Amino acid sequence: MRLNVNEHLAEAERICAGNGAQLTALRRAVLTLILESESPPTAYRLLDQLRDVRKSAVPPTIYRALEFLLQNRLIHKIERLNAFVACTGADHAHALVQFLICGKCGTVAEIEDDEVAVALRRAAQNAGFHPSRALVELEGVCAVCCGTEN
Ligand SMILES: [Zn+2]
Ligand SMILES: [Zn+2]
Repeated sequence: MRLNVNEHLAEAERICAGNGAQLTALRRAVLTLILESESPPTAYRLLDQLRDVRKSAVPPTIYRALEFLLQNRLIHKIERLNAFVACTGADHAHALVQFLICGKCGTVAEIEDDEVAVALRRAAQNAGFHPSRALVELEGVCAVCCGTEN
């Protein structure tokens, strides 16, 4: 399911309301920037873009907004890129997701494969390890860049 920006924002409003949280104009602006970005933006790029509309924006402004969006499960942080993507699955368990990072065009796709999650959990258990979070980031070339999709 691929939502357009407006649908995505409406969904975000709904999720925040359900969490008893408020998607303020600033948080909404940051989420919109992330949604409109072709590849996942870093906090610094977001700050730069935000300054076009809000001259007073400083790093804590953006970090607080990002923290809010993460807590309300509206975005994910891609550790490998130190960048952020909008969550495509409404309200799923963020502890178990996988990301496909294209090294050519820079797009990041989110997938949620339960079998991957189960296999990781089992492997961890076998090692006597108790995972709190399983963030899987695969680097490679996406279908569009491979030419297998037009
Ligand atoms: Zn997600
Ligand atoms: Zn690509």
